[in-house]
Amino acid sequence: MQRCPVCNARWNGNRNCHRCKSDIGKLADIETASDDFYQQAIAAYESSDYPAMLNYATRACSLRRTPKTIRMAACAALLSEQFDAALNLRGKFISSKQENHI
Ligand SMILES: [Zn+2]
Repeated sequence: MQRCPVCNARWNGNRNCHRCKSDIGKLADIETASDDFYQQAIAAYESSDYPAMLNYATRACSLRRTPKTIRMAACAALLSEQFDAALNLRGKFISSKQENHI
């Protein structure tokens, strides 16, 4: 999160927005949890535990849907031979790239 979702002020890392004083700490906690699951997915990949990778990647993606987390989940689905899920995630990946103008 780079900006306050309420007033669009630049986020300085504090739990409350410096401009509108909104409590955005819980949103930051969700992003941190997503990042933790993402890192766990990488660790599972490195140990060739693809079902665990898919579990962590799916959790990361459910908490924070970005092209990065969707791509990780799609790769985990492919490695776990869940091709329908991988194809579904591919569609979400393309949509998210268009939403984020990537
Ligand atoms: Zn704000």
